[in-house]
Amino acid sequence: MIKLKTNPREIAAVDEIYRNLSRRLTSDGLSSCPVSLCSAVVRLSLAQSCGKCTPCRLGLSQLDKSLSDILSGDGDLETINLIEKTARVLTASADCAIGFEAGRTVYTCVKAFRDEFVSHIENGGCISHYENPVPCVAYCPAHVDIPGYIALVNSGNYADAIRVIRKDNPFPSACALICEHPCEHHCRRGLVDDSVNIRGLKRMAVDNAGEVENPECLPDTGKKIAVIGAGPSGLTAAYYLRLMGHSVTVYEQRKSAGGMLRYGIPAYRLPREALDREIASIISTGIDLKTGVSVGKDITFDEIKNDSDAVYLSVGAHSDNKLGIEGEDGNGVISAVELLRGIGDGNYPDFSGKRVIVVGGGNVAMDCTRSSMRLGAESVICAYRRRKEDMTALPEEIEGAIEEGCEISTLIAPEKIELDEKGNVAALWVKPQMISVVSRGRPSVVNADTPSVRLPADIIVVAIGQKIDSAYFEENGIPANRGRFSADATCNIKGVEGVFAGGDCVTGPATAIKAIAAGKVAARAIDNYLGFNHIPAVDVEIPNPKAGSFPACGRINLSERPADERKQDFGLMECPMTLQQATQESSRCLRCDHYGYGSFRNGRTWKW
Ligand SMILES: Cc1cc2nc3c(=O)[nH]c(=O)nc-3n(C[C@H](O)[C@H](O)[C@H](O)COP(=O)(O)OP(=O)(O)OC[C@H]3O[C@@H](n4cnc5c(N)ncnc54)[C@H](O)[C@@H]3O)c2cc1C
Ligand code: SF4
Ligand code: SF4
Repeated sequence: MIKLKTNPREIAAVDEIYRNLSRRLTSDGLSSCPVSLCSAVVRLSLAQSCGKCTPCRLGLSQLDKSLSDILSGDGDLETINLIEKTARVLTASADCAIGFEAGRTVYTCVKAFRDEFVSHIENGGCISHYENPVPCVAYCPAHVDIPGYIALVNSGNYADAIRVIRKDNPFPSACALICEHPCEHHCRRGLVDDSVNIRGLKRMAVDNAGEVENPECLPDTGKKIAVIGAGPSGLTAAYYLRLMGHSVTVYEQRKSAGGMLRYGIPAYRLPREALDREIASIISTGIDLKTGVSVGKDITFDEIKNDSDAVYLSVGAHSDNKLGIEGEDGNGVISAVELLRGIGDGNYPDFSGKRVIVVGGGNVAMDCTRSSMRLGAESVICAYRRRKEDMTALPEEIEGAIEEGCEISTLIAPEKIELDEKGNVAALWVKPQMISVVSRGRPSVVNADTPSVRLPADIIVVAIGQKIDSAYFEENGIPANRGRFSADATCNIKGVEGVFAGGDCVTGPATAIKAIAAGKVAARAIDNYLGFNHIPAVDVEIPNPKAGSFPACGRINLSERPADERKQDFGLMECPMTLQQATQESSRCLRCDHYGYGSFRNGRTWKW
């Protein structure tokens, strides 16, 4: 006789352990010692290894011993070399994913954290840099004082919340609406239930603060700084340099400032009135903004350099990648940059009755897909080479597009564009794909053994990434690597006196908050280069944490206007929190600045 083996209690308990472990790991962020983490991965892998292949059996045991030696202070520099070598051999020769993944993890870790391994040998522990930072603050690229502004939102003091945010980020409104919120990824509240909705609470502050004055600028220093490019990075650098008392001129080639916040992100995610208000506030500090001036055409780089004590180069990534297929020059083929730039200037094309295909799988492709629907298209297909789960667009953007009636068509690669006798787009021919081996961390695709497919179309939007227009600046002595300007972590360009660079033109297309962080770092570096050490501070009192228990409580997510309604217009689609929701959500913050993590040594750090 056979019996059904269902152990619901045991299964539920094991599931709970995994859920708990996974929450704990996600909420940990940069706070754990990387050597201990490596050691834990190796021990888990040892327990899972079948022991069949020698590299896995012996390699993992060797790694376990060497890592224990480092952690107990018995290792030396040779032990680190042995760990690196063993991990490399294990990755190359293990028969299955258990040994391969463990080896690769350890190898990546030694490469990234060699100084940590050395510190264990020389100092018997971690270097302080990786010890217990407040996770949300550490993961916000601009290191905004998040627990501070959440406490102010909780007490209803929205204007002071904005002052606290502006100390590190002069774009609270834009970030409240479009920031990809990396600060939430490792929020410690995840230990209890789920991360705090930090971006949503910032929106609460922005919507309710009213007009908030900027701090007074420090006395004039007599120094002149030029900023090339009025995107978030350039405007951030300009703002802080102006507050430090320097005279700042910003050159912008387009008719309005904002960079990709205006000429990329559509108004249904970032309304133009909010952006205009934010930029006007930044400029009101006394920045001289010259729009419609293209550096390289209307004025030379040398003229700017000779007329300034320092220059910040923040020209972004504005030229588009091509598909490189037949028919790409036909009428009706447009690039994502071209489409969104026109919309940014207020020129909304009429797509009524048109069949639109957007090629790409990132957030820019989603912006084009959802914008096409709002421009009246009869049908919109987003065509992507890999699977839906491989798309780099945010899942909520993909789901939002589907709700609005757009189709996501995956595993198809553009082959050629069919044009009619007048040279207009008639169809996109695609080759079906099959998902295949993982290469550089992503599953690759190969041609499937099925015939090409014809997708009828009137308009094809190509959204497969942007490049940096670096040629002119390279000709004028700015070093670059594959088009990206070569600047170090302080935005300094080695060998070019007084010139700094940051934002997308250094990193390649990234995010607004990374560009803002670069602008902040550049402002500090330029100030130091000019012989000063101005440190912006803010005079706001942060409420003390409230005593009480923290029962598990669901996270409040922001809702959107109904799909049928929002797809008709470019009005803001995301709805704010109510006061009741914001009060509950802000109360979920564990105040890691006070409790547990304590990286704000001796209280809160007010200075940069
Ligand atoms: C469609 C789209 C959607 C996006 N969505 C998001 C999002 O939801 N969240 C997010 O965080 N990020 C998003 N991003 C990315 C974000 O907008 C960029 O990372 C950010 O704007 C980069 O800032 P930057 O200042 O480095 O460059 P940019 O914003 O590109 O600004 C550079 C400025 O320099 C000017 N310029 C260039 N050359 C010259 C010259 N020779 N002379 C004078 N001026 C010049 C340009 O006109 C531009 O105004 C999106 C980007 C795109 C394209
Ligand atoms: S700017 Fe972005 S990353 Fe920083 S606190 Fe705000 S939402 Fe988080
Ligand atoms: S609980 Fe609060 S302070 Fe702690 S990481 Fe989350 S938002 Fe930051």
